[in-house]
Amino acid sequence: MTNSYIEKILKELAQRNPQQPEYLQAVTEVLSTLERVIDAHPEYQKQAVLERLVEPERIVVFKVPVEMDDHHIEVYRGYRIQFNGALGPYKGGLRFHPSVNLSVMKFLAFEQTFKNALTTLPLGGGKGGSDFDPKGKSDNEIRRFCESFMNELYRHIGADKDVPAGDMGVGGREIGYLYGYYRRLRGESESGALTGKGVGYGGSLGRKQATGYGLVYFLQEILKRHPLNNPKAVVSGSGNVAIYAAEKLQQLGYQVIGMSDSQGYILDDDIDLNVIKQLKEVQRTSLEDYVKLAGKGEYHQGSIYDGHYHCDIALPCATQNEIDARRAANLVANGVKIVVEGANMPDNNEAISYYKQHGVIFAPGKAANAGGVATSGLEMSQNAQHLNWTFAEVDEKLHQIMTAIHQQCLDACRQYGLDEDDYVSGANIAGFERVVRAMIAQGIY
Ligand code: NDP
Repeated sequence: MTNSYIEKILKELAQRNPQQPEYLQAVTEVLSTLERVIDAHPEYQKQAVLERLVEPERIVVFKVPVEMDDHHIEVYRGYRIQFNGALGPYKGGLRFHPSVNLSVMKFLAFEQTFKNALTTLPLGGGKGGSDFDPKGKSDNEIRRFCESFMNELYRHIGADKDVPAGDMGVGGREIGYLYGYYRRLRGESESGALTGKGVGYGGSLGRKQATGYGLVYFLQEILKRHPLNNPKAVVSGSGNVAIYAAEKLQQLGYQVIGMSDSQGYILDDDIDLNVIKQLKEVQRTSLEDYVKLAGKGEYHQGSIYDGHYHCDIALPCATQNEIDARRAANLVANGVKIVVEGANMPDNNEAISYYKQHGVIFAPGKAANAGGVATSGLEMSQNAQHLNWTFAEVDEKLHQIMTAIHQQCLDACRQYGLDEDDYVSGANIAGFERVVRAMIAQGIY
């Protein structure tokens, strides 16, 4: 990197935020693509936009005590990061997972700021969650945890203030409990304060499918520029994003040959998604039983990215830092030509460099997985108008938004004389410019 302003910001950031590796990784990834923008706009340095951009507007950390079924009490930590509100109310999911800490929350909220900007909807960036692990907990324990979490969170959110949604470990069931308790505490039905709600009480048709479907709509735009013949895809994860990405791939006639969870992965020439949904959405158990239930395929322990199979497309849809340079090399050896991120930051910066050196087209999550938050934005619009749109209307709007995000990436590359296949720079620049213009217009905040 040659830009001294960017270098200074990254150095100071590392000093001020020790022990926050994920946050530093996310900021480094974005800032290292902004050199040409910063060079072209000396006013950004005068206005200290980078200093202001990397500091969250507000961080709320709170205690979440919960009584378990056998009456013992456990104490978890809750977070809400209101990262940047220049474009609108803070918006971003809640993650319940033991790996949640301040660094993970800040990286997700930082990424969310640019992702939300790319949707062109009026949404600021935020994120929240807890180190609570919903796995293996009873329904009552989950409900009591959600209520205890909301008992503090409700002070900080609202339809025009901050609008959480789901993320890892927070699906329809958890949003239902969270929203129910919010409504009780507020004494009014403010449906726009949370998204991902059930369709019967203010939720949007198509929200459940939106991140996965949107990811594949983005992939289709890439395939128009880089066609592949009968491509085979692997999708890591088997949660909300992965299941609906695989569903859309299959609807479009692509072969999905592998899926995974935190323990292992399955390989099968034509994955039976009904079995995956049964295991993950209904039974909430491991993929290990896939072979028995589907009567076909192979199960292996470990990461799908260490396995050997032929694939052309990889959609990492599980969690952050799943793929390092070694796994990226394995994917290339397996034949991969296109990697599109469904998860947030599943590829570390070394993996991304490896793809670049080996001619793999790579699209980052902040562009490719923005369909979830975009459809949350559509849910907010429906709530504000007291209307419900049809599935087809929502899906069409989602499709248009994903196509437009893809176009913004290309336009940003063109504007700054970069290779149009550089989706990382394109997404970062397009998101950055929209946020920064709004920040500058609103004075010093
Ligand atoms: P879910 O909790 O529904 O699913 C997560 C999946 O990832 C599960 O299959 C889980 O396995 C697997 N997993 C978790 N940790 C690991 C690991 N260390 N190695 C391999 N697999 C792992 O989450 P979502 O599908 O909602 O989210 C997935 C990713 O997509 C996250 O990065 C999230 O931030 C991002 N995202 C989600 C959006 C949404 O709308 N839900 C929107 C945009 C981004 P197991 O079943 O064993 O727990």
